[in-house]
Amino acid sequence: LDIEEFRKAGYKAIDRICDYYYSLQDKPVVSQVEPGYLREALPAEAPEDGEDFDTIQDDYQKLIVPGLTHWQHPSFFAYFPTACTFEGMLGDLYASSAANPGFNWACSPACTELEAVVMDWSAKLLGLIPDFYNTSGIGGGVMQTSASDSGLTAVVAARSRFVCLHPSIPLESLIIYVTSQTHSLGAKAGLVLGLEVRVLDVREEDAFALRGETVRAVIDQDKERGKYPFVLIATVGTTSSGAIDRIDEIGEVLQDFPDIWLHVDAAWAGMTFVCPELRGPGELQAINKYATSFCTNFHKWGLVNFDASTLWVRDRKLLTDALDITPEFLRTKHGDEGTVIDYRNWHLGLGRRFRSLKVWFVLRSYGAEGFRRYIRKCIELNNLFASYVLESPDFALVTQPSLALTVFRLQPETEQPLALQALNDLNRIFYGRLSARRDIHLTQTQLNGVFCIRLAIGAVRTDESHIKHAYDVLVEEAGQAIEAWKQ
Ligand code: PLP
Repeated sequence: LDIEEFRKAGYKAIDRICDYYYSLQDKPVVSQVEPGYLREALPAEAPEDGEDFDTIQDDYQKLIVPGLTHWQHPSFFAYFPTACTFEGMLGDLYASSAANPGFNWACSPACTELEAVVMDWSAKLLGLIPDFYNTSGIGGGVMQTSASDSGLTAVVAARSRFVCLHPSIPLESLIIYVTSQTHSLGAKAGLVLGLEVRVLDVREEDAFALRGETVRAVIDQDKERGKYPFVLIATVGTTSSGAIDRIDEIGEVLQDFPDIWLHVDAAWAGMTFVCPELRGPGELQAINKYATSFCTNFHKWGLVNFDASTLWVRDRKLLTDALDITPEFLRTKHGDEGTVIDYRNWHLGLGRRFRSLKVWFVLRSYGAEGFRRYIRKCIELNNLFASYVLESPDFALVTQPSLALTVFRLQPETEQPLALQALNDLNRIFYGRLSARRDIHLTQTQLNGVFCIRLAIGAVRTDESHIKHAYDVLVEEAGQAIEAWKQ
């Protein structure tokens, strides 16, 4: 495409994206295609001669859109949201037009400087203390691809710090602490680094939150068997049930073990800190007091298109000491002088996307108050859904609703209470029926052997009518599931 052809194709693309959003609600939430559908539809090789771009764009509509699961659909309640906005899309478009790998300040000063500023805006918006601001010159924030990358980066830095502090301790003795509710990013970090991961117990009576006393007990046990925990990954808002680890208690215990890095993964729930009333003392205050690093994802509940995971550290040197490799071809005057941030030393890769642009667009267009309104709306909608569940004789909450997540199951009133196995069987049938629906999408989980269903709210266009519809669908499918299960 030349510039004028790009202009024409670009207008057409935007028109089609608008049409997509106008028609989103009428589409099936979950793609209906069968595995391999695209291989059958596409030629086996790339074309020898270039094709007309109109045809290519038409094929996107014809072949790709039917294979999409529509995460922005107002009845998408699965996983956690990836709420996206037009502001974010335009940010991505401009970023890709600059096509800039932005690894050093000198690569394009605007990329680094905007990221440093936007990370400070975000830190303030979320209520982090100035220790984490880039302007502190000591702590700071960086954008990563995903919470998994943020977690891995933190674990790599934690390992380096520990090894520097204790050079005689063999690497095989190092352990990463997670809980049974930690996202798989903890296990992944262990896998990638070849380190042992210890899964700490959490109890149902603590709403699946990690407690300080558990941490102290396992540290003592591990030290006795010659093992050295060097990082603990705590979670605010676990994936299965939205549980919130007791960061205050854990932080207090770790005061006695200053060589253990506390990484707080709040990939989903961290965004709620924009609302002052949602900053619990056991959460934000404790993060401010104790966390070595903290991560939350704008690309989940933060109105920014994937990807934009934000990671803050109390001491940036912990990242750069672990990750700075500077061959001659990457040296720059400002980098040598140490007067600028070179973000390549704050993450695992080298080249990086210009992600701060879309976050900047979103924060400016929504404003802090618009952002808070959106978060509060999602929570109110979830409270509405939870109230339907509570009032129903057929459904039961498995855990208390957490922010914009409800975990529930089908539990019809029966003369004799149903055994766990029978309830699980019934709920699997129920979930099987829900999964076959085209008009709604939810995901399942297990908590202490209980099969349950999660409903997470976050799509920008979800309103009360979609919550009501979701509940009506549940009631309808519950009736059918009970019939099928009786047979
Ligand atoms: N942490 C939590 C608590 C999550 O719920 C998720 C995903 O749902 C992740 C981390 C992983 O996020 P990412 O895809 O950004 O790695």
